[in-house]
Amino acid sequence: IEATEGYEEILERRRDHVGRNLSISYRKKLRIVKGALQYLYDDLGNTYVDCVNNVSHVGHCHPVVVKAMQHQIATLNTNTRYLNDHLVDYAEMLTATLPSRLKVCYFTNSGSEANDLAIRISRHFTRQKDVIVLDHAYHGTSTAAIEMSPYKFDGKGGFGRMPYIHKAMNPDGYRGPYRLSDPGAGEKYAADVERIIGMLQQEGKAPAAFICETLLGVGGQIPLPPGYLQAVYRAVRAVGGICIADEVQVGFGRVGEKFWGFELQDVEPDIVVLGKPIGNGHPLAAVVVTEALADAFNNGMEYFNTYGGNPVSMATGKAVLQVIRQEALQQHALDTGNYFLERLRNLAPLHPLIGDVRGHGLFIGVELVRNAETLEPAVPEIDGIVEAMRDRGYLVSTDGPLYNVLKIKPPMVFNKSNVDGFVSLLHEVMTDLGY
Ligand code: PMP
Repeated sequence: IEATEGYEEILERRRDHVGRNLSISYRKKLRIVKGALQYLYDDLGNTYVDCVNNVSHVGHCHPVVVKAMQHQIATLNTNTRYLNDHLVDYAEMLTATLPSRLKVCYFTNSGSEANDLAIRISRHFTRQKDVIVLDHAYHGTSTAAIEMSPYKFDGKGGFGRMPYIHKAMNPDGYRGPYRLSDPGAGEKYAADVERIIGMLQQEGKAPAAFICETLLGVGGQIPLPPGYLQAVYRAVRAVGGICIADEVQVGFGRVGEKFWGFELQDVEPDIVVLGKPIGNGHPLAAVVVTEALADAFNNGMEYFNTYGGNPVSMATGKAVLQVIRQEALQQHALDTGNYFLERLRNLAPLHPLIGDVRGHGLFIGVELVRNAETLEPAVPEIDGIVEAMRDRGYLVSTDGPLYNVLKIKPPMVFNKSNVDGFVSLLHEVMTDLGY
């Protein structure tokens, strides 16, 4: 059904009163009015399979989570200066999923705020200011987070790189100088971080922190090459720097094989930053640090956050963890993700545009290229595919520095029949479009 009635009016009202630097998904706009698990419904009664919303981790409006939130908001919502069981319950439940040295939680309301705090804690501890980030990374929208995000500061409207931020090479094993076929690729990309550390040392400095996602999201749905984080963390720690894992997109069982993305690399960060999925759409994020970092941060200046850790957020977080366990969603992500990857890889020989299929669990990227040798990005072809998928009821989006990667990170309840639907429609759409 063509959904256009009343849309111009909404667009006009947005233009009048809503910040204008915000794009809206799809050429043919969507007015989504309802969500249930992996499904979204528009104002005309059309059903869409959500293939991209990793925030609604256990599913849109999951009844267990909704009920816990409803109960708590009707009971009490205050700040964290009163004693409340939910706060300590959740901090214990959360840290139980992490390596034992990651012990102390700070609760915030967004991933940006959490990354901002993680950097502040690192700077307090090390008494250094410089931060090493990966090229094309995105860590959030606060002033400090923008400074850590080449995706923003190098892009349109950006202020450029601050002198105390250093960009290391994006360890892209498909497109970068070292390919996944090279077993030494991880170490070779890590050498770029070592180069920056060496440069800082010549100036009498050391990094306060190294921060990266443990699978690169905005960087293009890229799994890190084997050995990469081990080599990087070793080098950063050798000069006293803090290793931060941004798990905002990939954590919480999504990668299937493990609960956390960093576990795929067999490392233990000093700080883990969590967001999006942990509140299933409710604004909840967290910074989890070691005891030593927490002690150093407890320096006389209080850290108080009006909403962070409030009882409604904590009850929500507890319910999300409970559902992940009860519904065995990590195992489900592994099984469904492996099936998805296999089906997409089987599709690749039929469509020359499919250059690479990669990912772990339900965090998958399909990179589209015009030429398998030059890797010329298939843009705008990819946009036509995304629009055609939307017309057929599957919502997917694009990412990567060249905007040519189909980004797949659905609610974790996404199932094999959703995979079958997605893959057969992708085949149909690409065939129709002549790709
Ligand atoms: N880190 C990563 C890896 C993200 O993807 C995002 C959001 N896209 C953020 C941090 C910021 O989170 P928020 O939008 O909740 O501030």
